[in-house]
Amino acid sequence: MFFDAVVVGAGLAGSTAARILAESGRKVLVIEKHKHIAGHCHDYKDNNGITVHTYGPHIFHTNNKTVWEFVNKFTEFNYYQHKVLSYAEGKLIPFPINRDTLCEVFGINIATYEVEEFLSNEVKKSKFNNPPKNFRDVIVSQVGERLYELFFKNYTIKQWERDPEELLPDVAKRIPVRANRDDRYFSDKYQGIPKYGYTKLVENILNHDNITVMMGIDYFEIRDYLKSSLVVYTGELDRFFDFSHGKLEYRSLNLVLKTFDIEFYQPVAVVNYPNDYDWTRITEYKHFLDEKSSKTTVCFEYPTAHGKPYYIVMTSENMERRKKYTEEVERLERTGEYIFVGRLAEYKYYNMDEVITASIRKTEVWLNGR
Ligand code: UDP
Repeated sequence: MFFDAVVVGAGLAGSTAARILAESGRKVLVIEKHKHIAGHCHDYKDNNGITVHTYGPHIFHTNNKTVWEFVNKFTEFNYYQHKVLSYAEGKLIPFPINRDTLCEVFGINIATYEVEEFLSNEVKKSKFNNPPKNFRDVIVSQVGERLYELFFKNYTIKQWERDPEELLPDVAKRIPVRANRDDRYFSDKYQGIPKYGYTKLVENILNHDNITVMMGIDYFEIRDYLKSSLVVYTGELDRFFDFSHGKLEYRSLNLVLKTFDIEFYQPVAVVNYPNDYDWTRITEYKHFLDEKSSKTTVCFEYPTAHGKPYYIVMTSENMERRKKYTEEVERLERTGEYIFVGRLAEYKYYNMDEVITASIRKTEVWLNGR
């Protein structure tokens, strides 16, 4: 059977592209290597009725109205504002750094208007490259060495298994610093968790007469037998080109789930552990959807170099390599026969909303060219 488009991967990037193509009247085949849809935002309900995110915590947040309207066509969201505490010096402290964090750590009582001066004194005492050249420089230039060492240094070493000075500044830009008492992890206008889960959201996106989904099939094993006008590729960038410019690095997670016979394990959904233990964070899933159960399911995250690719690794070496692959991608995309989109195919540290934004944009550009 002929398909107008073959979409490789049934995560957010692939399903968004498939939906837009299907709505434009194209017949779309989605091929998914795993035996489930939804990619890394896959979730399921466990035996205690708690929705578990298979690949670690996913919180939807965006300032992009188009994206928010797109996802709201396929699911309702609950009202959820993500809060994180960091376990440091034996205490649970608000994170990212805000006024209350400073009061806790330094045992002081300052007002919002005094925060800027306080932090600038911390920065003055510290050494860093100005302008910042790497992850450490960005953080130290904002909050000084003391807070960098307490909250960032060891978490980053655990997460990436490298010196924070080898990581590019962009990684640090994900974490805000606030002078006020806002203790949310994200300040985006639209935030929430899909009421019936991410898997259901993706199932609804893919539920269209023009879309056929095949699971448990590796695209690379069947690609020679497929005929289509367009391939939307969302898998690993280097794999597509047979690693011709060398391997790109990815980080994975070893996620250990535990169920406890207590109502709550911790006060918020996520607690970070920068300095203690081998895990980086613990997620207690029931907080996300306010699920009621006498038991609770929590997830310990142990970063590792082995296993499924969860994260791209933002070092200059990987980014140089990415550039070579990107040139090949641009050449293929110019033919009108390919779209590369998503965290893996673009080798970008995208959030979920950014994946959807990129997929909508690239697919619409392709359609406008027809
Ligand atoms: N980070 C840190 N301490 C924390 C949280 C984050 O040093 O308590 C750093 C760490 O390098 C991490 C990066 O900031 O990889 C981005 O954090 P984010 O929470 O965005 O990571 P993700 O949710 O993507 O795993």
